[in-house]
Amino acid sequence: MADCIFCMIANKEIPSKLVYEDDKIICFHDLEPQAPVHVLIVPKKHIASLDDVTAEDQELLGYIMIKVKDIAKQLELENGYRLVNNCGEDGFQTVKHIHFHLLGKRKMTWPPG
Ligand code: 5GP
Ligand code: ZN
Repeated sequence: MADCIFCMIANKEIPSKLVYEDDKIICFHDLEPQAPVHVLIVPKKHIASLDDVTAEDQELLGYIMIKVKDIAKQLELENGYRLVNNCGEDGFQTVKHIHFHLLGKRKMTWPPG
């Protein structure tokens, strides 16, 4: 989608610090890390948010969930990690292309702010 930062990253029109890529997803380091390890797992398909997924996306979302542990292993997050999706205005979503934050290498707090 034109004017979408994450589509542009997926299309290599904007550089990123790549962690993992295949035909369905791309994973890269967040520009403003909130933990020693902070990467974004992003489907190449443009879906605006978790609120916009349809039954057609079931396989893709399942694929992402299964890939999380592989990416976590690659990043040596053997002590655990947090996976976050921000959705919509109250969820503080700033990039309108669905993505999952994978954070690790520090003890997380609960509840989130
Ligand atoms: P959101 O607030 O939508 O859940 O998360 C968007 C994330 O994308 C933020 O953590 C922000 O730092 C990150 N981000 C925004 N623009 C870029 C960019 O151009 N490159 C990278 N690597 N991360 C970005
Ligand atoms: Zn997009």
